[in-house]
Amino acid sequence: MQLQELQLPAEIKKGEIRREKIKGELFRICSIPFALFLSPALTRDQIMNILDELKTGKTLVFDGAMGTMLQARGLSIGECPEEWNASHPEVVREIHRSYFEAGCDIVETNSFGGSRLKLARYGLGERTRELNRKAVENARAVAAAGHYVAGSVGPTGEFIEPYGALKYEEVVAAFLEQAQALEEGGADIICIETMSDLNETRAAIEAAKKGTNCTVFASMTFSLGKRGYRTMMGVDPTTAARSLEEYGADIVGANCGAGPDGIAEILKEMSGSTSKFLFAKPNAGLPRLEGDKTVYPETPMEMADKMLPLLDIGVSILGGCDGTTPEHLREIVRRVKVLGGCCGTTPEHLREIAAKIRRVRNS
Ligand SMILES: [Zn+2]
Repeated sequence: MQLQELQLPAEIKKGEIRREKIKGELFRICSIPFALFLSPALTRDQIMNILDELKTGKTLVFDGAMGTMLQARGLSIGECPEEWNASHPEVVREIHRSYFEAGCDIVETNSFGGSRLKLARYGLGERTRELNRKAVENARAVAAAGHYVAGSVGPTGEFIEPYGALKYEEVVAAFLEQAQALEEGGADIICIETMSDLNETRAAIEAAKKGTNCTVFASMTFSLGKRGYRTMMGVDPTTAARSLEEYGADIVGANCGAGPDGIAEILKEMSGSTSKFLFAKPNAGLPRLEGDKTVYPETPMEMADKMLPLLDIGVSILGGCDGTTPEHLREIVRRVKVLGGCCGTTPEHLREIAAKIRRVRNS
């Protein structure tokens, strides 16, 4: 079945729920808020790739945190999270499953610190290929047809010349090894994230684009300072978006470092300087210390409401970073993906619906 055969008949109006038979299969078609949308289970072959799916006007939902979820299940400080792909696969799979059950379209593998440079700190450099492959296999094992697995790639934790001792080529080689292992395991996407240095981000994009056939996401982390939002290395959102596109990223965005309000400001700046699809993964608010515990203040309802302005900015993929849970994502799905998941709905419909929800919730 081809995607274009699933377009809505023209006479279906916004705000209606209908059950329609398309090519002999029953779909529930809706475009009203909070109604459950049964996604037609397209297989990967039918979808081709995520870029084609986004071009149909869909909004997709990424998953939430992995690290804070693992910590809640016993991962101790100082332990290597990626090692759990081999030693605790059932725990990792259960986290992925809970995000898929919440309605997420894309889950991200437990491989954020999976480059050889980072794993070497735990004496696990030799297991780079194995741990990255297993990371993807754990997500793939619980992913239904039509859902995406993104291989997470985070910073190496070290600086490239002239700020540090690493050579640019060394960093490209480390990211290449990781990206290829993620693709071997079955990743559809390589998601480069939480980056603060443009040069390191460039190395990661170069490695993923040259070394794999995966769709490449690239995201930097900004926090608010006196001059506005900047990465730790001083990069502003406008420069970031323009540079990530120039380096070859297919989809650009921001993650971590800010809650949904801050991420909306960052994405607004980014949207002006790139023509690529955008994604956003804010934290569940800004963390604060309560005793010796880090607490993320935003409840699932609060956070999900604050994600709606991102639709107005034109962000196509929403998810969460630190402190978000499957409950946060479930609420985001209810407001966002449900609305955006329908065949034939356009960004204009979504904006109208999002505005309507905001009016209802504010009254
Ligand atoms: Zn984060």
